[in-house]
Amino acid sequence: MIDVENIRKDFPILSRKVNGKPLVYFDNAATSQTPQQVIDCIVDYYSNYNANIHRGVHSLSQEATDAYEHARQTIQRHFNARYSREIIFTSGATHGINLVASGFSSFLQKGDDILVSALEHHSNIVPWQMLCERTGATLKVIPMNEEGELILPEFDKLLSPKTKLVFVNHISNALGTINPIEYIIEQTHQVSGAVLIDGAQACPHIRPDVQHLDVDFYVASAHKMCGPTGVGILYGKEDWLNKLPPYQGGGEMIAEVTFEKTTYAELPHKFEAGTPNISGGIAFGAAIDYLNTIGFDALAAYENELLDYATQNLLEIEGLKIYGTSPQKTAVISFNLEGIHPYDVGTLLDKMGIAVRTGHHCAQPIMDYFKIPGTVRASFAFYNTKAEIDALVEGVKKAKMMLS
Ligand SMILES: *Cc1c(COP(=O)(O)O)cnc(C)c1O
Repeated sequence: MIDVENIRKDFPILSRKVNGKPLVYFDNAATSQTPQQVIDCIVDYYSNYNANIHRGVHSLSQEATDAYEHARQTIQRHFNARYSREIIFTSGATHGINLVASGFSSFLQKGDDILVSALEHHSNIVPWQMLCERTGATLKVIPMNEEGELILPEFDKLLSPKTKLVFVNHISNALGTINPIEYIIEQTHQVSGAVLIDGAQACPHIRPDVQHLDVDFYVASAHKMCGPTGVGILYGKEDWLNKLPPYQGGGEMIAEVTFEKTTYAELPHKFEAGTPNISGGIAFGAAIDYLNTIGFDALAAYENELLDYATQNLLEIEGLKIYGTSPQKTAVISFNLEGIHPYDVGTLLDKMGIAVRTGHHCAQPIMDYFKIPGTVRASFAFYNTKAEIDALVEGVKKAKMMLS
């Protein structure tokens, strides 16, 4: 069980006002809020042991290195990776995806296929288009249905020995659909393809077990799971990470450099050129510790309760349509009011202190499918309350009256 009133005390931002009204923060799918424990961790780093890692013999550098590597181990345990060297620190999910896309350039040729889902975030589409342009491989799209679910028989048809890489988000950021990644991974392995899962949207709600999933690559961003911006991870199976060429050249990623030849450092350093976001990595570990003290089972159960409550109450408003109606979904509601532009609804809600996202949510193909310019998206976290949802429902009713 979640003690939401106590949890809210951990988040200083939740007690501020916006436009004179108490903040109701329902834009968690864009970025989550940061608990005091994580803020303290960043302050502690800069106040007490700020130093560059892996290089110095001096004490501060040792302390910073230890804390950074400790965070890597926390993350390894959280995702149940076999080795901590399979956890590569990145600047976020986008960086991890680009690292894999760039590495696959050396493995692909004309006649190969890459499959992506119709539910992808732009950061999951563009790198693959670029990869196909570079290599001559073909990008194919796994279609979705009216519910916002992937059509698995169509996926089966697309899959063939030509499939080298499949690429799906664990949970859609625009609709909240939880994709059947177990099935997708299993089937893709049958044809010897690799699978990269974008977990940016899943990791705030689910604790993925990468060994159990048997997934080849998995990416996440800290800032969607109570951590700071500008840091994330790429998990990769050791064999794959050894095969992939380095993404960027620079300090930290080399073993030996002469002008004739450079040999690369061992994992994970091979992929971590330059000075990383040290405080960010350490704080990412603290964010994961924080979430695990609450517990993912408790947090997911509570968020589902919020989702059901909000869905029921919003649907009582005449002319309101929800996009993404799969029974397998997390606490994201994308909706529109008939005949009213989502931007206008979002602007009025902001005046009432309610933060929602409006627009295409970096997932324009989904909007094209529904033939809409965008949606209003309310996304919930474990620190939200039913009273806040009541405020949203009242706000939407008011917006509807003012705009129609
Ligand atoms: C937010 C998000 C991303 C991008 O994450 P960054 O932290 O901006 O790199 C990618 N995929 C999904 C599904 C997301 O929700």
